[in-house]
Amino acid sequence: MFDTALRQLRQGLAIATGRRIRPGDVAALVQHIRRTHAEFGRLDHDRVMEAMGRVTDPDVRAAADARHWRRSVTTAYRHTVYYRRLFDRLGIRPDELSLARRTELPLTTKASLRALPEAFVSDRSEPVLQAFTTGSTGTPTSCWFSAYELDLAAAYSAMYWLMTAGLGPADVLQVCVSSRAALAVSTTLRAIGMVGAGYVQTGVIDPAETLARLTTPVHLPGKKPRVSALTINPSQLAALVGQAERDGYRPHDFGLELIGCGGEVLSTALAERAERTFGARVQDTYGMTEAFPISGQNCSAGHLHFGAEQGLIEVLDPVTAEPAAPGAVGQLVVTPYPPFRETTLLLRYATGDLVRVLTETPSCEMAGQPATSPLLGKAEFSPTVRDLRLYQRDVLELLERQPAVPLPVRYQVAAAADGFDLHVLGPEDDPALVARLETHAAEHDLPIRKIVLHDDPAALARPQFVRALLRETVATRNEETGTWMLR
Ligand SMILES: [Zn+2]
Repeated sequence: MFDTALRQLRQGLAIATGRRIRPGDVAALVQHIRRTHAEFGRLDHDRVMEAMGRVTDPDVRAAADARHWRRSVTTAYRHTVYYRRLFDRLGIRPDELSLARRTELPLTTKASLRALPEAFVSDRSEPVLQAFTTGSTGTPTSCWFSAYELDLAAAYSAMYWLMTAGLGPADVLQVCVSSRAALAVSTTLRAIGMVGAGYVQTGVIDPAETLARLTTPVHLPGKKPRVSALTINPSQLAALVGQAERDGYRPHDFGLELIGCGGEVLSTALAERAERTFGARVQDTYGMTEAFPISGQNCSAGHLHFGAEQGLIEVLDPVTAEPAAPGAVGQLVVTPYPPFRETTLLLRYATGDLVRVLTETPSCEMAGQPATSPLLGKAEFSPTVRDLRLYQRDVLELLERQPAVPLPVRYQVAAAADGFDLHVLGPEDDPALVARLETHAAEHDLPIRKIVLHDDPAALARPQFVRALLRETVATRNEETGTWMLR
């Protein structure tokens, strides 16, 4: 029964041509799964993943993609100022731009969307929420969403928490992403409500305060005795791991079972340290405001898999914009499909996120869903010199493996003609640490010439951005002096 429902949902998404998914149908499925939970206990995680990852017939998928693409193009042309002008200027007729000819349409850049977000809003939509990205790459970009899109996002999110993450009504989720991330916060709040679990909004606050809340008993009827799940950006997770290691916390101090990460590169080194520190499973996901409802999920083999029904995913050479070959690195370019996306319409949107094209067909539990390597980093955080590139992931894997480097790691890359110099915030008087880092860099063939440690944060004039910097302050009153302090 459960398998059938899932299959119907996936098939429905894959082959629907003009039909809008009704959020109520997804919500009803969520309730159905909750009842299954209540009757048979926890869902078998492997069975869920297998059902979700089941292979769709390639011909069926190709036909669905072609239909979805055509609809995306004609809708964007008819209903947005940006694409109407672009097509007219280039002399492209929308009804002739088939999926096979898509490369005739130039990529839509973040700069275009940022410059004039309203030009991408469909004139037949009813926008109700402007969601800003949290601005990891400069000025925030924004997208408008309709009530329908928000309902759908909540229903999808509930499915994720219930089935993939395995949350149930007894769980308590602490949300440690920025409270300004409107789409993520509102969606998760509503989704957790559907699941029946507890929701605690903490935001990005002092790591010591976050740890205190994680260890505080929860005295609620029907709920687990402590916070059981956490959702957080990797750099803020790094801050928590660093603080917990310094303060001597042990896994039994927490009641955590799951840590859900997203929004940044999560290194294997950090995931393993977090699992050791908190005694919880760490799950990595991919998502960005502009790409909604396209999302990605990391499998046990370390691939990044995408829900193919929700949009077109291309991996293109960062320079030529031609499809990247197997084994090569390219940037993710996404086209979220109507009718799931109806307000801010985007065709071939360049995310700037780099991944490697797989050389072999995956045989993992999610083999049915298209996959790439895990996220290698943002293009602008992965500098190049001639044909050398230093990926954000490689730097994080290098630094986050060393307990002597403070978390979250702060670093700056200086390019030279024959490679990169890596300046890192860390103990200057530890030559053994530098030696360990340089050995690791050499063993992994990283284009690093030298590594310099700095005690003083001021020595790094342009350090790498991390979301842990989006700190939300808490006002505390000094009882003796009566003054207020922000920390
Ligand atoms: Zn996989």
